[in-house]
Order: sequence, then C-alpha cells, then structure tokens
Amino acid sequence: MKKLKVTIIGYGGMGSFHAKLIQANPEVEVHGIFDILESRQQAGEADGYSAYVSLEEALDDETVDVILIATPNDVHKEIAVQALEAGKHVICEKPVTLTSEELSEIMHTAKEQGRVFMVHQNRRWDSDFQMVKDLYENRKIGEVFHIESRVQGANGIPGDWRHLKAHGGGMLLDWGVHLLDQLLYMIESPLAKVAADLSYVLGDEVDDGFISYLTFENGVTALVEVGTTNYIQLPRWYIKGTKGSAVIEDWDLKGKIVKQSGIELVAAPKPIKAGQGLTKTMAPPSEDSIIKEKFAKVTTQMDPFYTNFAKVVRGESEPIVKNEEILQLMKIIESFFEAAETGQVVDVREHSYSNSC
Ligand code: NAD
Repeated sequence: MKKLKVTIIGYGGMGSFHAKLIQANPEVEVHGIFDILESRQQAGEADGYSAYVSLEEALDDETVDVILIATPNDVHKEIAVQALEAGKHVICEKPVTLTSEELSEIMHTAKEQGRVFMVHQNRRWDSDFQMVKDLYENRKIGEVFHIESRVQGANGIPGDWRHLKAHGGGMLLDWGVHLLDQLLYMIESPLAKVAADLSYVLGDEVDDGFISYLTFENGVTALVEVGTTNYIQLPRWYIKGTKGSAVIEDWDLKGKIVKQSGIELVAAPKPIKAGQGLTKTMAPPSEDSIIKEKFAKVTTQMDPFYTNFAKVVRGESEPIVKNEEILQLMKIIESFFEAAETGQVVDVREHSYSNSC
C-alpha cells in the first residue's frame, strides 16, 4: 500500500519526535521538514530529510499528502488553514488552537476542502492512563467516584515560547489539555461543573500550573493538578471506588490496588495513637478486610494514531480523535480560564460531550 508522505512544520522537540515515530509506522513516511530556525532546518537535513525554504514551498509540493504541525501553539491555526486550502490533510499538535473559535474555522475549512484534520491527543494511549481506564471501565474497585490526576515537576516552564501568552504558553494549554482530554475520553457522563485556580509562582505572564475540581453529571468528581515548582511529587493517579482505592505513583507505573476482601466477619480495626490522641476512624483497615494487588502494567504503543489517520484518509475508518471532541475540550478549557478569573464554579453542561470510546 502507498505510504502517505508527511511534511513536518516545526522541527523542534516534538517535530523531531514525530519523525522517529513515523519511521516506525508502515502507513506513513516523512518526506520533508520546514522550520523558521536555520539550526533546526540543518537538524532535519542531518536526520536525512529535505528542508523546504518556506512553508509555501512545502505546500506547493504536490507529492506531499500530509502536513504535520508541531510549531508553537499560536500559529497552528494559520498553518492548518493554509495547508487545508492547499489540498493537504493535516495532523496538528495539541493544544489544537488558542480558542474554540479558531478550531471551528479549521473544521469549516477541512469540510469545505474535503480533507482530514486530526489532533494529536497522544496521551489517550499513555500506559498509566490505559491502566486507569481499564480499572474504571471494568469496575475493578467497584464504581469509581473520585479521581485525582496530577503531573508535577520542579523545573519551571521549559523553553522560551511557553512563557509567553502571545504564543499560547502556560500549563493549562500545555498539560491541562492532555489531562482533561483523558478524563473526558474515559468518563461516560458529560462534565457538569468546573472550579479552577491558576498559579503564577514563577512570575510569568502565563500560568505555571493549576488546581481544578471537576464534577461530572454522573456524580464522579476529579481533582486535576499541574505544577512546575513541586520538589516532592504526589502520585500521578489516586482513585477511589466503592470497593477499594488505587494509586499509580509515577511514569514507571509503580502502583497498587487495595480493595475489600469481601469476608463478612472481619476484625474491626484497632485504635491507633495519632498525634496526641487515639483514632479508630483513621486507623489502617484490618488485614482480613482487604486484598492488596499490584496494578497490572499495560504497555501501549502510539501506532493506532498514524494507522488510524491513514485509514481515515482512505475512507476506511472513523477518526479515533474526533474534532467535535476537541472542540468541546477547547470550550471547557475556556471555562477553566473563566472559573480562575472569576473565582466562580462554571457550569459547562452546554459544552460537554459523552465519550465515544
Ligand atoms: P519547540 O520549541 O521545541 O519546537 C517548535 C519548533 O517550531 C521550533 O524549532 C521553532 O523554530 C519552530 N517554529 C516556530 N514558528 C514556526 C513557524 N511559523 N513555522 C515553522 N516552524 C516554526 O516546541 P515543542 O515542544 O516541540 O512544541 C511544539 C508543539 O508540540 C506545541 O504545540 C506543543 O504543545 C506540542 N507538544 C506536544 C507534545 C505531546 O506529547 N503531544 C509534547 C511536546 C510538545
């Protein structure tokens, strides 16, 4: 089968990572690259790709099927629209745009041109998330009613453009888009309410992290937190269900599940000394009453994305990342900014979608 020829616009960290991933996929191949920085043009050539002198030259090349956008966030929209109008299919990095309105414009152009436009929400295939999704969907700790999803670093905001509002910097548009997409993708019920607090510890004009509290219509709640000044990290995931609790500590997928043993007559927990007092309420559960399990690791690959993209282009499959989902995601991100600015809980029901997985 003929491989789709891809040109990567923006050959920085993520652009060059895409090139490696594409090399490993039989459906697609990198044809060329374009970057506004001479040093990155040279890096692309050193990796074996031809570098176009301009975006226009890349778009004029009729042998190219797909434009992959891996530039800073603020220019995603203009490049996507130009590429679609030039008759190319487009893969775009997240956050797809800075506003939902910009995405609507791209979707309109894609429809008009009859071309495929898909957003690279790659973290739907992260192993840690797939483990949580399996736990949630198969009710391994009963009905999940609360989820805490955190990523925390101590290295501040990386790079240059991520510090600047004009380029779409800040952590809500960076990691927030991933963490929220995962929850919206997994939880079968629409999101109802959002409270959010952005942090500006580093003194940048954009947020260096945030804490948010989400309430879904089915009653599931989620705490989503991103930090860039955390010298001690809390677990990546902490999940509570009606029959147990689960934790995934880190990217190495260290985790555990502790759930009810189901034995009817178990010894009551013994009171423990806690500080200057005694407590039975907060004592650990008695050994008979629980079962401890390792959280089974899941290994996933990103192949589904490019393979699915190629199939969508050939008209053989539905997209695994749907633009309507991402439009709702961007509207909810806008509600996060509104919640943080006003200090109010924002009702997002009109923006919510039920997951389609
Ligand atoms: P980066 O700064 O490492 O690379 C961006 C590159 O784009 C730079 O080389 C820059 O010179 C180039 N560039 C800037 N404006 C351009 C233009 N108009 N035309 C062509 N090239 C241009 O940034 P990055 O970390 O690679 O991020 C790029 C995109 O990828 C962002 O949208 C980011 O959110 C996304 N990203 C996604 C993931 C993921 O896991 N999905 C991870 C990292 C970054």
